[in-house]
Amino acid sequence: RKADIECQMLVIGAGPGGYTAAFRAADLGLDTVLVERYASLGGVCLNVGCIPSKALLHAAVVVDEAAHAKDYGISFGAPKIDLDTLRSYKDKVVGQLTRGLAGMAKQRKVRVAEGRARFVSPHEVEVEGKDGTQLIQFEHCIIAAGSQPVKLPGFPWDDSRIMDSTDALMLADVPKKLLVVGGGIIGLEMATVYRALGSEVTVVELLDQLMPGADKDLVKPLADRLKKQGVAIHLKVKAAEVKAEKKGIKVSFEGDKAPEPMLFDRVLVSVGRVPNGAKLEADKAGVGVTERGYIPVDRQMRTNVPHIFAIGDLIGQPMLAHKATHEGKLAAEVAAGEKKEWVARVIPSVAYTDPEIAWVGVTETEAKQKEMKIGIGKFPWAASGRAIGLGRTEGFTKLIFDEDSHRVIGAGIVGPHAGDLIAELALAIEMGCEAADIGHTIHPHPTLSESVGMAAEVYEGTITDLY
Ligand code: FAD
Repeated sequence: RKADIECQMLVIGAGPGGYTAAFRAADLGLDTVLVERYASLGGVCLNVGCIPSKALLHAAVVVDEAAHAKDYGISFGAPKIDLDTLRSYKDKVVGQLTRGLAGMAKQRKVRVAEGRARFVSPHEVEVEGKDGTQLIQFEHCIIAAGSQPVKLPGFPWDDSRIMDSTDALMLADVPKKLLVVGGGIIGLEMATVYRALGSEVTVVELLDQLMPGADKDLVKPLADRLKKQGVAIHLKVKAAEVKAEKKGIKVSFEGDKAPEPMLFDRVLVSVGRVPNGAKLEADKAGVGVTERGYIPVDRQMRTNVPHIFAIGDLIGQPMLAHKATHEGKLAAEVAAGEKKEWVARVIPSVAYTDPEIAWVGVTETEAKQKEMKIGIGKFPWAASGRAIGLGRTEGFTKLIFDEDSHRVIGAGIVGPHAGDLIAELALAIEMGCEAADIGHTIHPHPTLSESVGMAAEVYEGTITDLY
């Protein structure tokens, strides 16, 4: 059968990995087609992930800030929440970005094909869309089909009161009682939003700390604040039996300190994401897919089939948008003939909760497990004029140094804007900065960024009296 479309580069999936790859490939002169099963470009991140969640988290911070303002003599009264307007605000933010992407694709003459792609041979995919099936023939392909939420078995998923993150972002209503199953980044971000909107929130986490992956000390200020705000947090507890009843979702729990069975108006399941690698019939192209649905790649993002690349969530952890975009750019450049490979040392992680938690490079827990020789410089925000002015002294900045070279190898920050502050440390690690480089860099006063320089100075011993 003759192909309906021929191209030099085919990108499957228009998330942050896919659209970055497609735009870069087009900029490098490749005739590019971008296939996406949904009408809107942007993937999970723009449509049902990073962007809508941050728009709602902004609203949550405003609610809390307004409440806090009475401490300095300004009272606004209880918030009146118009859910329809909040939802349209979020949708407007998303729409602005996704329409922008469509414009950028057009500008570059990237052809967008709407539909679900599956491989039929090493150089062909079939795209099934609303206008029928199209056969696309390609020279190179970049698979960027992303991931989707884990659907825990045993939950009554056909009941709309059981939600995944996509459902929770729809903001159908503000449930009186919300259970969040899974205390990772996504679960805690949504707990932050719904708590601020007025839900009574319970979080259960199977492990012994919230946000597994981050150091325990970084998580504590967030856990303390959530508890103070009335969020019930149960660690080492499993949602065991979940039944949809007329009055609510009845959940019973397992674990040493498990709470009694409770009724909830809604349950958000946020226990991780699974890669979409197994749904593409990649075997027809000879591309290897692991049992769990990941597609293994080399340092150039090539799969075992040299003209087919894979990037983003479906090649492995961490499942983060900024990792996907870097991989997308690299894959496109390699496909266009550039001799490059993955060189990033670190990928920062951020929870946009309130306070934010951000970390990059080696964590203290990991360093201890591996018996690495490290030194730590920690600066408490209680000693930061800016943090005191903000009324947010619970934060701190922690830098981890290699004890022999004094090079920074890791960092963790908790407090407002931690996500912005961590970028400096990602750069410092990439550049192999030593403590003195960071300490001698003049940070503007009074900013939270000073805490980074100060933490390095604490490690160097050039400041000692913090209070
Ligand atoms: P995706 O964004 O998943 O895009 C894949 C695209 O491929 C989708 O549009 C899908 O429809 C399409 N597709 C799949 N199969 C096919 C097929 N067969 N044919 C055609 N199209 C197909 N990350 C951050 O870095 N920061 C954050 O703040 C953040 N917040 C998040 C909040 C939430 C609630 C969630 C769920 C995720 C969040 N993430 C965040 C993670 C981030 O969204 C992902 O890491 C990122 O979207 C991955 O990009 P990707 O290009 O690999 O795939």
